[in-house]
Amino acid sequence: MLKESENWTRLKKRLAESKFRSRFELNQAMVNYCRDRGEEVIRQHCMKFVRQRLAPAYPENDGKQTPWNGHPCFVAQHATACCCRHCLRKWHRIPEGRALSSRKFSMLPIS
Ligand SMILES: [Zn+2]
Repeated sequence: MLKESENWTRLKKRLAESKFRSRFELNQAMVNYCRDRGEEVIRQHCMKFVRQRLAPAYPENDGKQTPWNGHPCFVAQHATACCCRHCLRKWHRIPEGRALSSRKFSMLPIS
């Protein structure tokens, strides 16, 4: 899985070095929300958002499908460049115009 690999270590460093990506952080209400629901529930939420909004070959409203705020997963998606197909291509080298395979899906740091 990418998130456990050397590639993920390198990508994490690049994301942290990005002024834009590194500015995203959870506010206290979101931290509390995550604590209250637990890691597994939050992971399920994130996977649902990615499945619905990023996995199709041509996602609806691509480039604008991930709100800036309102759920910790949205913030995490922007922080990890898992917000739209353009960012998936640019940061994760996942081509646009093709549905995400389950392998690619499982490699995303957000899933
Ligand atoms: Zn994006």
